[in-house]
Amino acid sequence: MVKTESKVAAALDTSGPDREMALWADAHRARVAAVGPCVHLRAIIEFSNYCRQDCLYCGLRRSNAKVARYRMDPDEIVEAAVAAWRVHKFGTFVLQSGEDPGYPPEDLARAIGRIKTSTNAAVTLSVGEAPDADYRLWREAGADRFLLKFETSDPDLFAALKPTTTFAARMGRLLALRDMGYQVGSGIILGLPGQDRISVSRDLLLCAEGEYEMVSIGPFVPHPDTPLGRRVRDQGQTQASAAALAPARTPNVRATLNTIAVARLLTPMAHIPATTALGVVGRQDGAWRGQAARHIAAMGVVGGTGRDGCDRDSQDHTNSPLCDSAREHTEYSGDARYLALLAGANVLMLDVTPREYRNYYEIYPGKPGADGDELAGSVNSAIREIRRLGMSVCPGRGDSPKAPWGRAAQKGEHIGGRQPRCREMELSVRS
Ligand code: SAM
Repeated sequence: MVKTESKVAAALDTSGPDREMALWADAHRARVAAVGPCVHLRAIIEFSNYCRQDCLYCGLRRSNAKVARYRMDPDEIVEAAVAAWRVHKFGTFVLQSGEDPGYPPEDLARAIGRIKTSTNAAVTLSVGEAPDADYRLWREAGADRFLLKFETSDPDLFAALKPTTTFAARMGRLLALRDMGYQVGSGIILGLPGQDRISVSRDLLLCAEGEYEMVSIGPFVPHPDTPLGRRVRDQGQTQASAAALAPARTPNVRATLNTIAVARLLTPMAHIPATTALGVVGRQDGAWRGQAARHIAAMGVVGGTGRDGCDRDSQDHTNSPLCDSAREHTEYSGDARYLALLAGANVLMLDVTPREYRNYYEIYPGKPGADGDELAGSVNSAIREIRRLGMSVCPGRGDSPKAPWGRAAQKGEHIGGRQPRCREMELSVRS
């Protein structure tokens, strides 16, 4: 299929559980074919919550005076990484912060270098827009990857929601990161005010065009101390007629999974996380659980082949235990992130920020996190859940499979950061 806005929008318009599950299954198969059936576990350390930006949706925005601000010094960052690495040999540490001009770039470079020498892990940065000199310094210190979501490709929406930067500046930073040899990640927030299917289609096409090594689709979670969160809270009481923006919708789990699935079909080689925000939304929206049980049973995952063929009305229980399971299970009681791992996503992030800081990094309410013994419990339960779904945890750092980093490189193909399958992959739109 030609990757046009209308075709992508049609793929997102699944109207009904069966078409949705077919889309998730297609995405899961594409994921297994391109990046394998295993799940990458990443550890994230949120080391500073200072931010000079004033994004209308984010709890860390500079105007939010209710936030108690903190910075972990480089030693604390390294200690947190090493402590987490003792619990589990994470292949990647993600160092994330607000856009903190008060954090000396040299300090972050030191932390990166020491994490690289103390562990075998890769380092991903997620620290926002910074000058070339800083990006270069961190790259030379050993940073491997950088995640910078463009959030929305709609320039008007971007301008309204991110008044302290511009869409052009953000896209310019993504190009600079690419030029410096980072594995680059980008993506969007889903469920922003004014977003519709066409707008999200454009976002996904921009992700494909950028040929990003990581693509993140996170649902919007309202934060009560932000303008957008307040608008969501008030929207039942007042019509925001005079407001520049329509009220924000909270996206549901199914819409998020559909978008992740289409992102997978458009960017097969990308690493796509099952985001923390999805886990949070999944606890608030229960309308996906019955369908989840059916999808899990239907996929069976076994070797990533995906299979269904279960006649749900049949009384003949001899064909497959999975079919029995599909008939018997009416509700999935787990975390929506695991369902995303059967709908195109292949990465799970665990928050290993030390407890004393964790509650202050509140982008949105309801984020889980763990350290110490608690972390061992979280890692074990993540591994257990991944296995229960027929998958395993990927070994190694979890670099992009694209050249020059991954399998394609090992086979001697030079694809210059392109996604060869991307152009060939058919985005199947069921009618
Ligand atoms: N400062 C860095 C940056 O701008 O990329 C990293 C930190 S920023 C807080 C990380 C991500 O949080 C953003 O890219 C945004 O997508 C997400 N985020 C912020 N507020 C959110 C909300 N209310 N709901 C969902 N995601 C949100």
